Amino acid sequence: MNLPKHVKIVEVGPRDGLQNEPNKIDSATKVEFINRLSATGLSVIEATSMVNPARIPQLADAEVVYTNINKLPGVSYPVLIPNIKGMERALTVGVKEIALFTSASESFNQKNINCSITESLQRFEPVIELARQQNIRIRAYISCALGCPYDGDVKLERVARLAKQLHTMGCYEISLGDTIGVGTPRKAREMVLTVAEHVSIKHLAVHFHDTRGQALANIFVCLQEGVGVVDASVAGLGGCPYANGATGNVATEDLLYMLKGMDIETGVDLNLLVDAGRFICEKLGRENQSRVGRVLPRPPM
Ligand code: MG
Repeated sequence: MNLPKHVKIVEVGPRDGLQNEPNKIDSATKVEFINRLSATGLSVIEATSMVNPARIPQLADAEVVYTNINKLPGVSYPVLIPNIKGMERALTVGVKEIALFTSASESFNQKNINCSITESLQRFEPVIELARQQNIRIRAYISCALGCPYDGDVKLERVARLAKQLHTMGCYEISLGDTIGVGTPRKAREMVLTVAEHVSIKHLAVHFHDTRGQALANIFVCLQEGVGVVDASVAGLGGCPYANGATGNVATEDLLYMLKGMDIETGVDLNLLVDAGRFICEKLGRENQSRVGRVLPRPPM
């Protein structure tokens, strides 16, 4: 089997997860959640989002959370930035890495961020300029890469062109997101192969939602094609507030179990990760969406 020796897991639970949880939790719990994730050995933990608090009240305490987490050396804590206002907020707390987001679907962009794809890229320009001045690393998401809740199919060529534009603009990594979890392995492979014709595969990440139970299968074929970065959310937290029915991201515990079982290194401790997932589920009063996280007692690894 052609598989990478090492995979970088990008944990998105504290942002992508919590932004879509109906139950609010306090800042101290978020801080403890992120600190627990840091202790697992994860190297990237998306901490929060500097989005308009009126739109996503769950993350209104972004500055407090970012300021109070233990920032371990060698761990990156990117913050999602929707616009220049968010970037200015990020600078006040010394954020070192940001994540930008747009969509491969015009309708989704209109409903989600009220602008066209082209306009979204124009909005990024001053954000990227500020980030560059401050030596801040920039990651980017392309959502709806395998389908849109409004437009249906999305052309992979369009995803590829958009990825190329974002990379040219200075984004070091482009995460291809199946926001509504419609993809299946053949399409996921085509997506990676098509985009990799425009942007080197070492700059690509994949972001799958498990809405229809396809996430791990999709990730597996992407790994076979050389993808080495995978987004996941502990306990399968989250979804997308603007994509109705888009249930959680692939659970980090389940992803890690698969990777460990195939001798792919991640540097992440599965038991500590399971504990972090159980901790946040208890605080949220919600069911753990990770199959591995539900196995009792601790999984035998
Ligand atoms: Mg997601």
